[in-house]
Formats: sequence, C-alpha cells, structure tokens
Amino acid sequence: MGSMPAESVEIAKAELTKLRRAGYRVVGGHSAVKICHWTRSVLRGGKNCYKGWYGIKSHRCLQMTPALQYCNMMCIFCWRHHTINRITGVGGEWDRPEDILDGLIREQRQLLSGFKGNPIVDKRLFDEAMEPKHVAISLDGEPTIYPYLADMVKLIKSRGMTAFLVTNGTNPERLMELTEEDAEPTNLYISLYGPDPEAHKRICRPLIPDSWERLVESLKVMREFQKSVKVVRLIMINGYTIRDPEKYAELIRIAEPDFIECKGYMHVGESQKRMKREAMPSLDEIRPFAIKLAEALGYEYLAEDRPSRVSLIANPSSPHYDVVKMKALGFSQ
Ligand code: SF4
Repeated sequence: MGSMPAESVEIAKAELTKLRRAGYRVVGGHSAVKICHWTRSVLRGGKNCYKGWYGIKSHRCLQMTPALQYCNMMCIFCWRHHTINRITGVGGEWDRPEDILDGLIREQRQLLSGFKGNPIVDKRLFDEAMEPKHVAISLDGEPTIYPYLADMVKLIKSRGMTAFLVTNGTNPERLMELTEEDAEPTNLYISLYGPDPEAHKRICRPLIPDSWERLVESLKVMREFQKSVKVVRLIMINGYTIRDPEKYAELIRIAEPDFIECKGYMHVGESQKRMKREAMPSLDEIRPFAIKLAEALGYEYLAEDRPSRVSLIANPSSPHYDVVKMKALGFSQ
C-alpha cells in the first residue's frame, strides 16, 4: 500500500492554520485529531460522553477523521467549516492507515501532555488517556471517502482498540467492504437527516445527485453487519426534522438497527451562521417524538442524556440490548 493511487488529498495552507487554532492536529495529507470535550471533562473529574452507553470511556477516546474536509454534502446544521473542493481535492496520495493511526496517537499524546501534573487530574486517568482505547472516526468530513477504511478498522481492532464509525450513508460500496472479516467497526452509525428525499435534500444540500438512493442502499447494507452495534442516528432540528415518525420508522425498518439515537442539533460552530438558535430542540421536545417512533417500530424508549440532548431507543431483540441497557441506565441523567 506504500504508493497509493493518486486521488484528492492535501489541505490548503491557510486552512491548516485555521484548523490548528481550532485545536485540530493534522497528520499527513487528510487526517486529523482533536481532543474531544468529553475527554477533557473526564480528565477534570467530570462527566463521560453519553456513548458510555456502549462502553466508551471518554478519557481514552481518540476523536479523529481520515477524510478531513472531504464530504459529499453541505449540511445546514454542520458545525464545521464548509470548504470548496470537498470531493475532488487537489491531487496527491491517500496515506496509509498505519501512518495515520500512529501519527494521530502521537499528536493526541502531545495535545494531552498539558494535563500532566495538573492537580485536578487523577494520575491514573491521565496515564490511561495516553493509551487510547477507542477510535471515534467521526471528527470531520465523510470517513467513507477514505479508500482504505476497511484496513483502518482492521488495524484499530488488531491493536485492541474499538472502532466507532459515523457515516452519512452515501457510500454503500465502502460500507459493504466493512462487512469483511475483521473489518466490522465495533459501533456503526448511519445518520438520517430527515424522513423523506425532500427534507434530505433541503437539509443536506448534497453535492452528488443520488445521495438519497445511496443512503437507502446503505441502510440495506447495515443489515449485513453481524458483530457491530448498529445505530441509526436521527438529527433532530426544530422546524425541519422532528416530524412524521411513521416515515422514519419505514426507513429504519430497512436497516434493522440495534439502537436509534434521536440527537438534538447543537447551535455551535459554523452552523450558527446558517441556523437560528431556536432550531436547537431541548430534550423535552425530542422525547415525545422519540416515544412515538419507538412505538411505531415496536422498540423501547430506553434512556436519555440531557447535556447532549439525546434519546436512546432500543430494539429489545438485539443481541446488544442487555449490555447497553445496563450501561445506559447507569449513565442516564
Ligand atoms: S465517543 Fe465521541 S463524544 Fe464520546 S469521547 Fe469519543 S469523540 Fe467524544
């Protein structure tokens, strides 16, 4: 894999400075790490992120992307900066998974080094944080654009870490590659941005013509995963997506996920230029919708997390149900 086919890849210099200021550390041509808010929170003695439901320990999480600024949609709610050249880029080679992962872990350690010796940071937690255990492939960009994603997941798992992948579902072929032996991520998320093609187009502003059809195809591919904890995530936006639970249920039935997260849009970052603050729903606005959705599917309204404005719905016949339920009830607040 030393010399990879040239495709799109190189981060413009001006962007690099901006990203660095925002706390990103770029490795190679198209990958980056950023310390997650919840990683800092746990190190300072605070709360874990709600993905503790699935066993994630935030202080041991590496939040990264192998497709920095490469995406085939321009979602209105996205908190990232939308660049031009988001699909094609400016030429170069795709980096190898080993180089990306080693580089990101190195940068993460560097970024965390400031916590060493801080009297409020527990030494055991700090030492654990220096040895990441979870890789959240979800920081920025659409990770399925990276052509060696299956090898990346295999590498992560071969090192005894868990792989947590979030995709917009527009790349069913790449997703299919992940159904291979050892390439299934520990957690697989597909995001839904609206219950029908019209809402999807309005909210995602796709840069490819068939994003909806590809998303539906990805929902079918999700069924093929045997080991992953499969989650469909709904982005809840007041005035846009909190409606038509039956329509969502129809789509979700295609994927047969273990869990559904109804996650409130957060009015942060660049999205503030595109959205009004009122578009951000409270948990109390999300819950009634989530309960209706659970009823429509025959799933169970399992837990919620107020700070992250998320409701968790579970498939009671999922093999992961008991473990997640136990953890979720411990984490809910
Ligand atoms: S799973 Fe996501 S939110 Fe939780 S610590 Fe990792 S990057 Fe942060």
